[in-house]
Amino acid sequence: MIKFISITCLLITFSACAQQSKKVSKTSPIKMENDNIIIDTTWTEKVVKSDAEWKKSLTPKQYYILREHGTERPFSSELYEVKEEGTYVCAGCKNPLFSSDAKFNSGTGWPSYFQPYSQKSLHVATDNSLGMERDALTCKRCDGHLGHVFDDGPKPTGLRYCIDGDGLLFVPKQAAVAVATFAGGCFWCTETIFESIKGVKEVISGYSGGKETDPSYESVGSGSTSHAEAFQVYYDPKVISYKDLVRVFFASIDPTIVNGQGPDRGTQYRTIAFYTNDEEKAIIEAKMAEVASEYSLPIATQVVKFEKFYEAEAYHQDFVKRNPNQGYVRAESIPRRERTLAKVKDLVKK
Ligand SMILES: [Zn+2]
Repeated sequence: MIKFISITCLLITFSACAQQSKKVSKTSPIKMENDNIIIDTTWTEKVVKSDAEWKKSLTPKQYYILREHGTERPFSSELYEVKEEGTYVCAGCKNPLFSSDAKFNSGTGWPSYFQPYSQKSLHVATDNSLGMERDALTCKRCDGHLGHVFDDGPKPTGLRYCIDGDGLLFVPKQAAVAVATFAGGCFWCTETIFESIKGVKEVISGYSGGKETDPSYESVGSGSTSHAEAFQVYYDPKVISYKDLVRVFFASIDPTIVNGQGPDRGTQYRTIAFYTNDEEKAIIEAKMAEVASEYSLPIATQVVKFEKFYEAEAYHQDFVKRNPNQGYVRAESIPRRERTLAKVKDLVKK
C-alpha cells in the first residue's frame, strides 16, 4: 500500500492536532481526514509492528489504549457523543470494528455497541485483572486492546461492547470507499484506464488469482506462478457503481482471448473478474452474458471468488503516468486507454 502511507502519515498528524481541542460539541463536524480511510474487510494479513513502530504511528492516547491496555476516563472520548452514520475503525490498523447502526447510549461514558462490524473485527479473551473476570476485546488484525464486552446490552444481541473511544477512528458514511479487483492483462494499462474513471480514488497494481505467497514481477512474469497481473480499484460507491466498473472492465479487454491481452501471452495475462459476494458475482455474470453476443468466440474471462491481492513493486505503481514515453506505454497502454474510454465516455473523469 505504498500510496496510502502518505495518507496515513497525514491522518496521524491531523489526529494528533485534533486531540488538542478540548471540547467537541455534539454537532461538530467529524474529522475530515478520516474520509480517506478505506472500509476494508478483505484483509488477510495481521498488522504486526514493534513497540517503537507503534509509538511512532499512534498518538499518545491511542498508544495508551491500544498497546498499554489503558482505559480512558468516562465521558472523555470525543466519539462518545457521535451519532452520525458511519464506521468505527481501529486507530492502529483501520480494521472496521463497529457500524454506527450498532451504537447505543449506555450511559456509562464509554462508546458502546451491541455487535461488532464483522467476524474479522474482534478477538475475545478472558481478563482477570482488577480482581474480576471480564471478557477483554482486542482488534483481530493488530491485537490492539479496545475494551470489554458485557452481557447487559440491548436487543438483539443482549451484549454491550464497552470501548475506549481513543482506540477508534470514526469514518463518516459519505466517505465510504469500496474495493473491486480485476485482472485484465498488463497492469500498467489497466491501472491508467481505471484511474481515468470517475469515482475511482486509487488503483493499485499487483498480483492475484494464484496460490503462491509473495509473488514478484519476476516470478509472475516468468509464468512460474499461478497468479495473474491484477489491480484493485478503490472507489466511491456513491459516485460509481460496481456494475459500471464491471462495464469498464469488459470495455477494456478482449474477453475471448485465452491467456493473454494485446501483445502479451501467458496465464499471467489471463482476464479475471473477482467477486467478494453473490451480488457482485451476479453482476459479473449478467455483463458476461450481455457481451457474449458481441463476440463470435466464447468468453474466456474467469469469474473467481476473491481471496488475496499482493501489491506489486513500487516502480509498477502509476507506471504510465510516470513513464509516458516508454515504448510499450506509447504503443500499447495509452492507445488501449483511449480506446476504452471512448466506449465509456459517460464514466470518464472530467
Ligand atoms: Zn487494529
